[in-house]
Amino acid sequence: MVRFTVLASGSKGNSTVVSGGRTRILVDAGLSCRELFKRMKAAGEDPATLDAIIITHEHQDHVNGLGVTARKLGIPVYFTEGTHRAWMRWLTPRRQMTYKQWLEECRRQAAARQAETEPSEGDPDDIEVGADPVSSAEETACDAPEAPEPPRPEKDPTFLPSVQYFQAGQSLQIGDILVSPFTIPHDAVDPVGFVFQAEGVRMAVATDLGYVTPNVKAQLKKLDLLLLESNHDLEMLRDGPYPWSVKQRVLSRVGHLSNEAAAQFLETEYDGQATYVILGHLSESNNLPDLARVTAERALNGRASLLANRLLLAAQHEPMLPVCF
Ligand SMILES: [Zn+2]
Ligand SMILES: [Zn+2]
Repeated sequence: MVRFTVLASGSKGNSTVVSGGRTRILVDAGLSCRELFKRMKAAGEDPATLDAIIITHEHQDHVNGLGVTARKLGIPVYFTEGTHRAWMRWLTPRRQMTYKQWLEECRRQAAARQAETEPSEGDPDDIEVGADPVSSAEETACDAPEAPEPPRPEKDPTFLPSVQYFQAGQSLQIGDILVSPFTIPHDAVDPVGFVFQAEGVRMAVATDLGYVTPNVKAQLKKLDLLLLESNHDLEMLRDGPYPWSVKQRVLSRVGHLSNEAAAQFLETEYDGQATYVILGHLSESNNLPDLARVTAERALNGRASLLANRLLLAAQHEPMLPVCF
């Protein structure tokens, strides 16, 4: 049986389980591991049966629980290389030094150089390296290359049991599910949407996109299920509480899809094939579920041939009932 279960959708966390054949994939891990497992169980999905995690882009609402979840389950994570690197950078920001720390570092390096030239007088372990216990331990390890500390993956937030790279435009098979990633316009390093195909059922995830590009339109054809962003109502965003710079970011060509833009796509470009259209990534500040629903309904009902499409809303704070085929 094929199942599509949205666990969470919105700027506080995104995650969906796609199941087909004997394979189960978690799409994004934007909630804490604990919350992900709780919602999976509430929706009748067993976390222990997940085979892989696949990531759309590195924004926090899509990767928040990624490291912990992947390590706990011991399953591979699929990224584009750019997204993987961006995620690692996010977890290991460069450490800023104070002037005092910088002076101490200079003193330490000078002492270390002296110790190298006069090996009988110096013991690197005696040199004071400041108050940070982590850096002291790291330095000690670096100073003793013949006896390096064993790697401690549990201490490294970027450690993953296995990493697999994919590229937009190139399909990949994960177990029984064929995954076709496609580029979306969004302000991340290498953001993608997905079409998943299993047992002849095609399901697409298209959220976090500034607008519907010609390529995205081409990908979202002959679907059985479409999860489409309907992020904000244009008027609510314009009159709402966000600072102007954030409003501009959301409205930009690499921001988020408005109710109106989603409706325009549904009305003019969408082929009407999907049994289910799920509206997702709704803003809690600049949208109302009813507004998103009515705007999309109007677009679909304007086309008599699309009356069979069932319109659903994905929520931020609770999982949806699984959609089954
Ligand atoms: Zn997002
Ligand atoms: Zn995003």
